[in-house]
Amino acid sequence: MTVAFRRNVARMQGYKPGEQPQEGGFIKLNTNENPYPPSPRVRRAILAESDDSLRLYPDPDATRLRRQAALTYGFELPQVIAGNGSDDLLAMIARAFVGEKDTLCCPVPTYTLYDTLVRIQGGRLKGIPYPDDYSLPRGIFRARANVAVVASPNSPSGTAVPLDVLSRLADCVPGVLVIDEAYADFAEENALSLARERENVIVLRTLSKSYSLAGMRIGLGFAHPRIIEGLCKVKDSYNMSRLSIAAGEAALSDTAWMERNAARIRKTRERLVACLPAAGFTSFPSQSNFVLARRIGGKPARKVYEALKSRKILVRYFDVPRLAGCLRITVGTDGEIDELLSAL
Ligand code: PMP
Repeated sequence: MTVAFRRNVARMQGYKPGEQPQEGGFIKLNTNENPYPPSPRVRRAILAESDDSLRLYPDPDATRLRRQAALTYGFELPQVIAGNGSDDLLAMIARAFVGEKDTLCCPVPTYTLYDTLVRIQGGRLKGIPYPDDYSLPRGIFRARANVAVVASPNSPSGTAVPLDVLSRLADCVPGVLVIDEAYADFAEENALSLARERENVIVLRTLSKSYSLAGMRIGLGFAHPRIIEGLCKVKDSYNMSRLSIAAGEAALSDTAWMERNAARIRKTRERLVACLPAAGFTSFPSQSNFVLARRIGGKPARKVYEALKSRKILVRYFDVPRLAGCLRITVGTDGEIDELLSAL
């Protein structure tokens, strides 16, 4: 007997995360992790939580973490939701807002998980191509979609959309506007004010990048209490573990640690950008902890990716036409970037 998946599931490809080599020894500049460790408070909090209480379910509302997030970012508790990474929050948004044949629109290229989540729902993704300068495409202001998603800063381009443009977009969209701010701590501005002021805006944050906690899986969503209430209906009941609640609370209580690392990364990013032309690349203006570098002559980008990998340096290559000439390089430590530049 063959089992029958739903048609949309049978037809779709699953999401393919970036390579996570299980053997060590790589300089890993391919999935936008932070090269610096998390705040020491995180380790202490995890150790303190690692006791007999692990036999008990965690708080389904992750209250300690949300309370700290509300304090850190200037929100009230009912305006905050926590997720098992911001991927989990994106999945809740898809479940809550995208039904069969509904449309989610987003400028492309962008984070490809949006497409996977929409397909799972049996919905449709309307991708509106970014122009070459990665400014927000005009078509998104006219799209009739239940959900609009803008990653700002965007991946893989690293470029950001100015707050006043996002604010105008929030006025135009007929449904909910999701602003995915996974990389906002590396940018010049952010859109948290829109989550406070507008009833149709959700801003997503993650502790995976600036807070160096990709391994813990902690994401945050900020929106009007009515939106948060709706998302809670579709979330897994225990979506945050006891350890991730404690780790997230501790990390958010030490923003100075995060800010210091983000500042170091921004500095290294500018050095990398300045050195790329001599290595045969131009780059897009990045406000993230990575740089999209476009090959200008010499070996094609794919060959450069393969050559680097054989030297145990991993960067990201996207096998799609629009990005075929590009590599996405995560900003590592100064030493790691020196090794990359000398290999290039
Ligand atoms: N949004 C964007 C734009 C991303 O690049 C990522 C990282 N892959 C995420 C969300 C998800 O991050 P996480 O689930 O680790 O919070």
